[in-house]
Amino acid sequence: MEKVRVRFAPSPTGFLHVGNARTALFNWLFARKKKGVFILRVEDTDIERSAAEYEEKLIKDLLWMGLDWDEGPDAGGPLGPYRQSLRLEIYKSHTQRLLEEGKAYYCFCSPEELEREREKAISSGEMPVYSGKCRSIPSNETQQRVTSGEQAAVRLHTPDEGTISYNDLVRGTLTFDLKLIGDPILVRSNGLPSYNYAVVIDDSLMQITHVIRGEDHISNTPRQTLVYQALSLKPPQFAHLSLVMGKDNTRLSKRHGATSVDQFGKQGILSSALFNYMALLGWAPPEGKEVLTRGELTELFELEKVSRHSAIFDYDKLTWVNRQHMKRLSSRERAELAYPFLKEAKLFPDQMTEDHWEWLEKAVEVLTERIDRFSEFPEKVREVFEFFPAAMDESIKKELKAECASRVIQLFSKKISEIEEFDYAKFASLAKEIERETDCRGRDLYHPLRIALTARGSGLDLDKFIPLVEKGARLDFPVPVKNCAQRASEVSNLLE
Ligand code: GLU
Repeated sequence: MEKVRVRFAPSPTGFLHVGNARTALFNWLFARKKKGVFILRVEDTDIERSAAEYEEKLIKDLLWMGLDWDEGPDAGGPLGPYRQSLRLEIYKSHTQRLLEEGKAYYCFCSPEELEREREKAISSGEMPVYSGKCRSIPSNETQQRVTSGEQAAVRLHTPDEGTISYNDLVRGTLTFDLKLIGDPILVRSNGLPSYNYAVVIDDSLMQITHVIRGEDHISNTPRQTLVYQALSLKPPQFAHLSLVMGKDNTRLSKRHGATSVDQFGKQGILSSALFNYMALLGWAPPEGKEVLTRGELTELFELEKVSRHSAIFDYDKLTWVNRQHMKRLSSRERAELAYPFLKEAKLFPDQMTEDHWEWLEKAVEVLTERIDRFSEFPEKVREVFEFFPAAMDESIKKELKAECASRVIQLFSKKISEIEEFDYAKFASLAKEIERETDCRGRDLYHPLRIALTARGSGLDLDKFIPLVEKGARLDFPVPVKNCAQRASEVSNLLE
């Protein structure tokens, strides 16, 4: 069997969004599963819209997702160059051949003329198809006009009648009426190849075996098939993936939420989780398992099982998958992923000591259960760091007026000030002492103690909270952490 060779062929005209990332991912999964080759090809012949920054960003986002390629503009390879703008001579030589063989012809129609024809067709309810007008210009006239520098595009001469079919691995055989296709442009009047032309030459010369891409290219495929035929080249197999939709069944867009890979990263979604979730867009692993590593997904992936129905992007599901992936990480890994968000929020220093890392590891162990994504860490860490007794909720202030509350807090504040190296065990025995001395117990005892330490009515369990606060108070943070004794004393002072 021939070696599988697939490619992802983005145009660097914008950020990598969910639809394209899923296309890249399915190509990658298929290549890796089949021990084949995954190629990155940059389609940058739309010079007005392509930009080097987009290409750079695209590469960064693909690598962040965990997608790597064997051949590409940066990686090189035997069948390059892998950037279309560097392949113009290759396209030119093919065009020359098609013109000489009479399979292509120069078209001198101006954009205005074509637009008029288009509008006319549309207003009479017909499909706008090029009339083939320039086919019949005598060759000596064509030659003369071209040599005199008149602007001309090159079109493929296609049959006016009949049908053209191709087999799609996702959708079966698809047949198109040639009457509705017309003669596609191969080379624009600015000398640059059209997408439908360059893609065929590149896929063929790069020995692509399977073209896996979005459904929006289905209508381009008959045109490409005609180009393959004209050049006597063997077409690859095609697999068109359904579109990614929002929950309301309209095409996924900014209205639905984040759509670019980069945004998900900024929101604290793990790349392994995004990878996992995207693999489920239009494909389901056997036995309905949903939380899978890149390796497991590669092992299970089957192109033949890809669904033709549109895939719904469910943000809640992605969040759930993210949570599952977060749980699988070690504390150190979680700490490292949380740190950029904490630094950005100015809660952590630019230079971390080993003690900071240790603290953060403990914090993520305790806090991961309460968050869905890393971007939520600063908010949770603030709960530990910040202490604003003066700004307590009215409802809590009211609770402090209760008879037990003030006695418990004042006694706690007095006793804790006499203790060194406070920790949870010491807290537990202090609470017992206070219970004996005040006769306040249960909620009457523990709720005021919580308020004394947090100035809040709810939050982390105190056995988790106290060690974090005590250790945190000994470290250097941009916002210093107050220890338990300082906290109790401030709340107790408020009561006087
Ligand atoms: N440059 C095209 C795009 O980004 C590639 C389509 C294809 O894979 O053939 O849509």
